Amino acid sequence: MSETKFTPGPYRVDSDDLTVILDPDGNSIGEAFGFGTMGDEDRANAALFVAAPELYAACETIVSQCDRCDDGMIESQPAGIEGFDGAGNPRIEGVACPWCGSARSALARARGEGSE
Ligand SMILES: [Zn+2]
Repeated sequence: MSETKFTPGPYRVDSDDLTVILDPDGNSIGEAFGFGTMGDEDRANAALFVAAPELYAACETIVSQCDRCDDGMIESQPAGIEGFDGAGNPRIEGVACPWCGSARSALARARGEGSE
């Protein structure tokens, strides 16, 4: 797995302000506070941020355990498309693995890779 740059977890919310996210040493690393959000939604957003390291680890497990693809790609016969390659073999294309593709995408986004 790639080395990450984000603050290692586990994170938790500040017991005095449930919108403040703390690192394992109790240092604030963020606050779930935004325009148009307040109260329950801010606290729910903070809870989601707190879960991020565990979600990241879960995605890494999914990717490392997937045995249905080759580095996130599977071969697939395009549905409804008749065709052969130049050697007369059925045309096969690589598509993102439906079992681990979302986890791979989430990990890449969490590492700041790829498009926004
Ligand atoms: Zn896979």
